[in-house]
Amino acid sequence: MPDSPRTPDQTTVAWAADRLLITDVTERKRALADLLRHLADTWPQQPDPLREHALAFAQALHAHFDRPVPAAVPRCTWCGARAEDRRQLIKGPGTAICGDCIELVTEIARESREQQKADNSSPATPGGEDTRKQSAPVRGETP
Ligand SMILES: [Zn+2]
Repeated sequence: MPDSPRTPDQTTVAWAADRLLITDVTERKRALADLLRHLADTWPQQPDPLREHALAFAQALHAHFDRPVPAAVPRCTWCGARAEDRRQLIKGPGTAICGDCIELVTEIARESREQQKADNSSPATPGGEDTRKQSAPVRGETP
């Protein structure tokens, strides 16, 4: 793919493709998203009527999902929550993630790490109870 910067129209169409796949993904939506993404990727080579059509669709979708379309309402890219709905919203270039999604992602990452560890280590270790009592480290002010 050429590294030329996307036009705003291209960006809008690519956005629509991504937006379609956020919720309730059906086969039709996926096909449509693939088509839009393809159009966005090959934008300069597409005929004008097709581009206009795709853009009109993308804009309608934009209006539908983000009604007032202010760039000022940051939302979690993953679950769509707004900053005011969540404890945190960490913004990156073109994306944002909320505290809930971070927790979820962390959880998934940890589980897959543990799964990997379990797969790698030999299963010879008996799965006995850990007899060590959970002794909290004493953090007193010892002089
Ligand atoms: Zn979220």
